[in-house]
Amino acid sequence: DTKSVVPIESLDSLSVKSFPLCMRQLHEQLRAAHHLKHGGRLQYGLFLKGIGVTLEDSLRFWRDEFTKIMDLDKFEKQYAYNVRYNYGKEGSKRNYSPFSCMRIISNTVGQGDCHGCPFRHCDVSNLKNRLQGYGLDSQSIQSVVEMTKKGHFQIACSKYFDAVHNVDLGLGINHPNQYFEESQKLQGE
Ligand code: SF4
Repeated sequence: DTKSVVPIESLDSLSVKSFPLCMRQLHEQLRAAHHLKHGGRLQYGLFLKGIGVTLEDSLRFWRDEFTKIMDLDKFEKQYAYNVRYNYGKEGSKRNYSPFSCMRIISNTVGQGDCHGCPFRHCDVSNLKNRLQGYGLDSQSIQSVVEMTKKGHFQIACSKYFDAVHNVDLGLGINHPNQYFEESQKLQGE
């Protein structure tokens, strides 16, 4: 495995350029609220592991955000375990894989949750607003929304990919980490 290590200092820019929308929204929510619920920590934490963020960096990343709203002791007691767990360092010590699109799309997402697939779980007007806020052109937004409405969530994701990268690839997206790798490839890493 020659995958390079991704420093957490680059996550803000990567989230804009190379994260699928499901992960971009979790990243932004974490930065804004300094917290994510369990489902979000799991989905985003495993994704970060998958792109090449080390355990040490992951701990620092979550700690830096969470300790903006809680003391260090609480973070260490209630949250650090989960970060290590994602890396197979606690509990049954399994090497957990990042979730696929199928897994994420079939998740149940409650009110106030930010995990899941935004094409599946966000309402369309929110989705539209967000894409406008990101500066996507209206034609691209239209095609994303159209696929979303038809229930073709992964095709909507592929349209989002094309819009962000200004290409017309029509990739089949089946995993958020695959999305990331395709994006990095396109940008010459
Ligand atoms: Fe994430 Fe997959 Fe949904 Fe795209 S289709 S936003 S990669 S879960």
